[in-house]
Amino acid sequence: MKLKIAIQKSGRLHDDSIKLLKECGIDINNGVNKLKTEATNFPLEVFFLRDDDIPQYIEDGVADIGIVGENVVLEKQKQVNIVQKLGFGKCRLSMAVEKSVDYTSVKDLQNKRIATSYPVIVEDFLKRNGITAEIHEISGSVEIAPGIGLADAICDLVSSGSTLFMNGLKEVETVLKSEAVLAACHQLTAEQQVLLDKLLFRIQAVKKAKN
Ligand code: ATP
Ligand code: ZN
Repeated sequence: MKLKIAIQKSGRLHDDSIKLLKECGIDINNGVNKLKTEATNFPLEVFFLRDDDIPQYIEDGVADIGIVGENVVLEKQKQVNIVQKLGFGKCRLSMAVEKSVDYTSVKDLQNKRIATSYPVIVEDFLKRNGITAEIHEISGSVEIAPGIGLADAICDLVSSGSTLFMNGLKEVETVLKSEAVLAACHQLTAEQQVLLDKLLFRIQAVKKAKN
């Protein structure tokens, strides 16, 4: 029996996910099959997937565990357990408006059009703040939406803020702080749980050594 872990195939979380496994003493076979590989010294099978698909795969039990941004876990609303924050992939989901816009509070979003790839999280944020606004879901290049007249504001992932700045935008609200997390299936067998605990123990040791 092997524990199946889903990690991002390519993108911002890929390298740090592989590095974490390596720091846990787990060697990954870099085989020709880029969709799936196995660890050579731990009962672990590794699936390489788009980050958006990882929560669904875990909920379905196709993968037992996975490494994905907390932002994706919350947006997808799948039934998974967040078992450990991993300390990398740190970013925030923020509202931004054009630099020239007078913005004083969240009330300034009332009846505005907001472009985002995170409609669920944004909807929840607006509801909590008693704001009604129109959400435009777009899948990429959200930061150009105000400039082309598609939206009055955007809600997008930010780390340094340089992408916003380059597009003439300013950050006005933090909606969510996020980092990569280890998520697990609700229905793990006792045997899978033992392997997960073993992995978690090593992850915690790695984290402790860094502090
Ligand atoms: P995929 O092809 O797997 O769908 P993607 O383009 O959706 O990839 P990436 O841009 O690689 O995703 O980001 C993956 C995760 O990295 C994000 O969901 C987020 O948790 C984290 N992240 C950290 N900093 C940033 C940032 N500045 N912008 C976007 N994501 C960031
Ligand atoms: Zn994605």
